Amino acid sequence: MHPTDIIAPSKTLEIDALAKKLLSEGKDVINFTVGEPDFPTPKNIVDKAIEALQKGYTKYTDSNGIPQLREAISKYLKEKKNVEYTPDEIVVSNGGKQALFSAFSSVLCENDEVLMFSPLWVSYIPQVILTRAKPVVVQTKFENGFVPTKEEILSHITDKTKVILVNSPNNPTGGIYDRETLTTISQIANERNIFVISDEVYDDLVYDGKHISLYGLVKEELLIYVNAFSKSHAMTGWRVGYTATKNKEIKKRISKIQSHVSSNINTPAQYAAIEACNTDNSYMIQEFRKRRDLILKMAQEFGLEYVEPKGAFYLFFKVSGNDEEFCKELLSEKLVATVPGSAFEMPGFVRISFATSIEKIEEGMRRIREFLEHKH
Ligand code: PLP
Repeated sequence: MHPTDIIAPSKTLEIDALAKKLLSEGKDVINFTVGEPDFPTPKNIVDKAIEALQKGYTKYTDSNGIPQLREAISKYLKEKKNVEYTPDEIVVSNGGKQALFSAFSSVLCENDEVLMFSPLWVSYIPQVILTRAKPVVVQTKFENGFVPTKEEILSHITDKTKVILVNSPNNPTGGIYDRETLTTISQIANERNIFVISDEVYDDLVYDGKHISLYGLVKEELLIYVNAFSKSHAMTGWRVGYTATKNKEIKKRISKIQSHVSSNINTPAQYAAIEACNTDNSYMIQEFRKRRDLILKMAQEFGLEYVEPKGAFYLFFKVSGNDEEFCKELLSEKLVATVPGSAFEMPGFVRISFATSIEKIEEGMRRIREFLEHKH
């Protein structure tokens, strides 16, 4: 069987499409499925793309990304995140999504195993299957804050384990891994020479505590760091993400993959991303924090059970009964679109995105409350 016959289309995009269809029919839908900031891309960033177009920067570039962008990313990572990669260690890709696929493709051979922790983002399993490797899902526990324990990790490691995949801040839980957990994961990987792919695309969106990168914990030749401007700078449609690694062999492979699969990413978007490196996004983070606090206040009032989200823009709460049924009924009865936990390999939960206005959050949560009261 071909790998594409095993994978399903992205469930989140499917539900989002259904919600948008209902909206286009004039239905008053509150769409809590969206995985992107509702802010416009900052104007100074947009202006740089326009300027690039007007200057005629519309041709192929270095397929790794223009040197000025890789320099800007290198400086931005060092100054803002304390993560140090030279421009030569960075490859710019079409969003975090392609960066992740290149990272997987650069290390995995057929039947290699990739350890990943559920609940997990919808594209990880399909991407690993497409490389013909094998996803090994470690189910984390609600009681442990959806963070894997050492025993859970060790009991899934085999001699085929090639990669441990980590996503903190996490989609769909909004959780951030503490230093102890990250140290445990790093020690396990370092001792056994297992690669770590660290998806840190939500690292700017943290409301309590501090994001801790795996950079500096995992041995440098084993770490493939992935980030993107999509969530941090409201640039989802621009498709600018990147991998960074100090492993020269892996970097060479990622460059080759980029050059044959895509060539460079959209040229004007690269000029826009240089500007993003110098754009303050703290106003977005403040607004997300306000929304998170509101949604948690409402969720507490009507007794939802969840692990408090400290980052990203999601609330992942427990439901009684079948989560897919819950989401379907909530959409048809109350016109509130949410994503079932099964889409993230964690049935029995539902994800709400609070990347939407305060008014919509208030109205959507009011409808969820009515729905729950009516159900029970
Ligand atoms: N990683 C996680 C955890 C995500 O949630 C997403 C997008 O939803 C991505 C990566 C990919 O982001 P991009 O839009 O930059 O491809």
